[in-house]
Amino acid sequence: MSDLYRYAYMEDKHKGPKLDPKCLKGELGFAVDNRGRLIPCCKSDDKNNDYDEIFQKLMPVSVISRNNKIEDILETKEWKAFHRNLLKNIAPNACYYACKAGKSGLEKQVNTTIDPNTGEVKDKGPE
Ligand code: SF4
Repeated sequence: MSDLYRYAYMEDKHKGPKLDPKCLKGELGFAVDNRGRLIPCCKSDDKNNDYDEIFQKLMPVSVISRNNKIEDILETKEWKAFHRNLLKNIAPNACYYACKAGKSGLEKQVNTTIDPNTGEVKDKGPE
């Protein structure tokens, strides 16, 4: 992501852009970062989030090796609060870029699932 984009969405946050969280609609799945932590989605693996207060609260309880199963992480009060806050438009900085409501055209991410054996498009997410 270019610094121009970073600047743009940081500015947007102060104007209160509405979020359309893809993680709450099943359009983006969980991910794992290179420190072995469960993260809400691949888009949240963003260096700006390392300095984000909301994200900093989430990461200490997200180390996969310290839990028996992923559900144990998702059941923590930190993750429940994270998801609740998304619905209230409270989120780490990266979310305001990745899931800003009302994106259109080239700004939008479309997730496509392709069968690796046949090349057949199995599922094409909403555009
Ligand atoms: S960027 Fe934020 S709101 Fe969007 S899917 Fe990821 S965690 Fe959810």
